[in-house]
Amino acid sequence: MVHPKILEVIENDVCTACGACEAVCPAGAVTVDVTAAVRDPDDLSLYEKGAAPNVCEGCFTCGRVCPVVDGYVTDEFANVKRFFAAKSTLPGQDGGLASAIVKSLFEKGEIDCAVGIAMNEKWETEVIILTKASDVDRTKGTKYTSDPVDAILKDAFKKYNKIAVVGVPCQTHAASLIRENVNDKIAVIIGLLCMESFHHDKMQEEIIPNVLGLNIEDVVKMDFGGGKFWAYTKDGGEHNVPISKIAALARNPCHNCCDYTSVHADISVGSVGAPDGWNSVLIRTDVGEKYFDMVDGLEINNDPKPGIFLVNKLTDMKHTNNSGHYLEVCEKFSFDECGMH
Ligand SMILES: Cc1cc2nc3c(=O)[nH]c(=O)nc-3n(C[C@H](O)[C@H](O)[C@H](O)COP(=O)(O)OP(=O)(O)OC[C@H]3O[C@@H](n4cnc5c(N)ncnc54)[C@H](O)[C@@H]3O)c2cc1C
Ligand code: SF4
Ligand code: SF4
Ligand code: SF4
Repeated sequence: MVHPKILEVIENDVCTACGACEAVCPAGAVTVDVTAAVRDPDDLSLYEKGAAPNVCEGCFTCGRVCPVVDGYVTDEFANVKRFFAAKSTLPGQDGGLASAIVKSLFEKGEIDCAVGIAMNEKWETEVIILTKASDVDRTKGTKYTSDPVDAILKDAFKKYNKIAVVGVPCQTHAASLIRENVNDKIAVIIGLLCMESFHHDKMQEEIIPNVLGLNIEDVVKMDFGGGKFWAYTKDGGEHNVPISKIAALARNPCHNCCDYTSVHADISVGSVGAPDGWNSVLIRTDVGEKYFDMVDGLEINNDPKPGIFLVNKLTDMKHTNNSGHYLEVCEKFSFDECGMH
């Protein structure tokens, strides 16, 4: 067997767990949980976890959709056509824009499915395929934990033809590589801004109970803002700790990641740069422009405060903190597509 590039990504602990390799592997030899894993013919444990009985055929398709193999863009703003703030009438993390885009595109027949993350009261998450406008409410709100969103595209590709992907930068980068190299059923990619995410056990067993002293079932919303990590509870309580207290607990791949604004998405959506309760929006492609114009019932602010300078500043901060780590890992790879381009 020819070893695929993703084995080197996994071995160096920089796999983002985006799930793209699982979605495209024709042999069904990859599963993604907290990291990707390629089934070894001598190890049946991955077979039990869902990998096919087949093993890697060395086709390298996984390496063509892996964001870590592809590398990062130095200038995240070169493809930005328009920056503004927007707010929908839907309940959501910030202005509910991610939900509003998906909902409008279902209503107008522009998509037949979307992928997103639902959760229960214990903040246990599930990656789901949404198939109608009324499903959108199920995925509202930010979960600061990581799940392999793109892996579910494997099922979506079998049944649907016009797919919307919503995800963090590693997932939207991978989705754009899938669209470009493997499967063009992805109609639109909606990217979230993202500084970092956490493994479920760190959030459930350390950050919420030990760092914040809360019961996770009492928490109704989590957020980052003003240099702090916030947890809002059912009784109306607002609890916070400085980000510095939890930053080191973020997943290792996040400390090597140099995409803050989902540079490969059609539309990027965040909160930084916009007033509270609004979304910051970066339109990057003609596809993004076309679909954004179809979204109903939005308020738009073309000159939001604090504005794009803050998005710029945090992007620079992420690159400064992480690019050195990533470039060190690139030195160890046997391939050279990686790096900052
Ligand atoms: C891990 C993480 C870190 C983030 N960090 C920043 C940041 O540093 N700065 C910033 O401006 N914005 C950040 N965001 C984005 C921000 O929290 C909101 O998601 C964004 O503003 C969209 O808000 P909304 O009201 O439109 O979302 P909603 O309308 O509530 O929709 C939420 C959407 O996010 C998806 N989603 C939720 N959690 C995840 C997840 N873990 N992985 C993939 N998809 C998910 C849901 O499926 C849904 O489609 C982050 C988001 C995540 C998931
Ligand atoms: S090289 Fe091909 S067969 Fe092997 S894990 Fe990657 S996608 Fe699957
Ligand atoms: S494609 Fe995604 S899940 Fe697979 S190895 Fe690369 S980063 Fe990990
Ligand atoms: S920082 Fe965000 S985009 Fe980057 S690897 Fe972590 S979760 Fe993915």
